[in-house]
Amino acid sequence: MATGQCLCGAVSFCLAVEPRFFYRCHCTLCRKQTGVGHNLATLVNARDFRWEKGQGAITSWRKSSGYRNDFCSSCGSTVPNLLRETPYFWIPLGLLDVELSMECIGDFCTDDAMPWDEHRSGKSHCTAPDSLGFILQELQVND
Ligand SMILES: [Zn+2]
Ligand SMILES: [Zn+2]
Repeated sequence: MATGQCLCGAVSFCLAVEPRFFYRCHCTLCRKQTGVGHNLATLVNARDFRWEKGQGAITSWRKSSGYRNDFCSSCGSTVPNLLRETPYFWIPLGLLDVELSMECIGDFCTDDAMPWDEHRSGKSHCTAPDSLGFILQELQVND
């Protein structure tokens, strides 16, 4: 089990599982979303995710391409969101309050990375993942 919350604590959630893997995305959108070079995130089954509080405090910004940034209306922290039309929640790692020992499964969109954004794992992909199935397999999220 793992818990997480935004900067101000208005939005909090809980996971029934402890994720073991995460990925980095260096795309332009993730750079703007985080204000740094890349985001670090994982996915969990929707059934393993529960909002504790603050769902009403979330603002959702969506791009026509489908990219989405849900954030706390009070403090601006990016918060989890239901990934497009799938039964999976996208989780930004920094919100988790527990110290989980996690391994990076790869870096995506490295072609878009800024020269000062040097973090890379052993597996670098110059573009986004081809499919959700691929990333779920790499993250070992089981159905
Ligand atoms: Zn907040
Ligand atoms: Zn990205």
